[in-house]
Amino acid sequence: MYTVRMRFGTLAGRRLLFVSLSGVRIVDDELRAIGLSLPGFIERGKTIAALPSLGLLTLAAHTPEHWQIGYREFDALCPGDAEQLADEGWTLIAISALSARILEAYRFADELRALGMSVVLGGLHVSALPDEAEPHADAVVVGQGEPAWPDLLRDFEAGAPRRRYEVPRSARVLKRKQRPVPRYDLLQPERYNRIPLMTMRGCPLDCSFCAASRTISDYQIADLDDVARDLTTIGELWHKPFLELADDNTFASRRRGRELARLLGQSGARWFTETDISVADDLELLDTLASSGCAQLLIGLESARRSSLMGVDSRGFKWARADRYAESIGRIQSRGISVNGCFVLGFDDDDESVFVDTFELVQRLQLAEVQITLLTPFPGTRLYAELKHQNRLLPSADWSQCTLFDVTFEPARMSVDTLKTGFRNLMRALYAEDEVARRKRVYRQCQKQKRTHQPV
Ligand code: SF4
Repeated sequence: MYTVRMRFGTLAGRRLLFVSLSGVRIVDDELRAIGLSLPGFIERGKTIAALPSLGLLTLAAHTPEHWQIGYREFDALCPGDAEQLADEGWTLIAISALSARILEAYRFADELRALGMSVVLGGLHVSALPDEAEPHADAVVVGQGEPAWPDLLRDFEAGAPRRRYEVPRSARVLKRKQRPVPRYDLLQPERYNRIPLMTMRGCPLDCSFCAASRTISDYQIADLDDVARDLTTIGELWHKPFLELADDNTFASRRRGRELARLLGQSGARWFTETDISVADDLELLDTLASSGCAQLLIGLESARRSSLMGVDSRGFKWARADRYAESIGRIQSRGISVNGCFVLGFDDDDESVFVDTFELVQRLQLAEVQITLLTPFPGTRLYAELKHQNRLLPSADWSQCTLFDVTFEPARMSVDTLKTGFRNLMRALYAEDEVARRKRVYRQCQKQKRTHQPV
């Protein structure tokens, strides 16, 4: 305790480094080998890996000025760089990692602490399993970090950090007007070609497999004046930025979605986000999106098999809309907004025929892009609790396999091997040259329609 107080009680001791572990490495060797030959698959993986952590940049903005701060990507560090960080004089390291990289984060944290630095861990995984994380950190943050951050730093300065800082999911962090702009200025602009921007947090739906929707926060939307300030800052740092909205379901509120789309359109930036299929119901929103710089919408269609959607979300929202997928996607893409449709394989109602069904539906829907992943029980989700209770989590699978591309549980209607093989074959089929070329044609057609579309 005395050492901690001495260290943080001096100005030299108040040096805080944020370290982000993003991106994942597929564990399944064969799938990884396939992935290396699939351009679209690799591109999306690289894009995600190359995004900076908006969560950490946000905490940086909540850090008092008397702290010296820095930001690094873990993947840009070399083995042995823990010593280097100690030599540079960092005293406190804040680390955020998703489940697939949490074991690396723990090892790194142990190394840093052995060298005398203090470590704070947070993020979705740590919030779901704080007991697991605690032995690797001086403090863990459970839930949204912003409200706890000033107290946590004050406690470190006083030499008496608590083991755990908990923020309830209901804390309305984004609603506060004039919340600080994330510290985008900590980034080297030339290193990033996609910039994250948060306009909401959580999701009103509660899909059983979704870790993002409510592990740390209930559904809340950001004040548009604050989003406008973030956009101004990004525009000052990047010429013609491409924004990746760090939202779970951007247009869950459509009235507000129209205002947001107008704001994004005024910024002149191109952007990409995730939302649900109900965006197709609002023609005014679609027309606004068409002229707003929206490059693509990623939409969770989840399954080619309607029965697999039963119970995915508690309101039956996805199940009820599945028989209108073609109509909805046609309406969105007819405005020139291309759709990246996402499918999840491995639901309890999926048997071997789901792979062919998925391939055929992707073709029928005329999607401009497609993403397939395996159902993955992330800690904190309803799915995880159910599979654990049913004793179906594979004992051989550790957190590093929560990549969305590795099988981590016993499927209900096929074997683990059948799910693995069927997934690989579907991947090969969907990313075959002619299929990629076909989707590219749809994408180009969307671009053409965007130029000629007249709002209704
Ligand atoms: S709609 Fe998307 S963000 Fe919302 S709960 Fe479902 S998977 Fe999560």
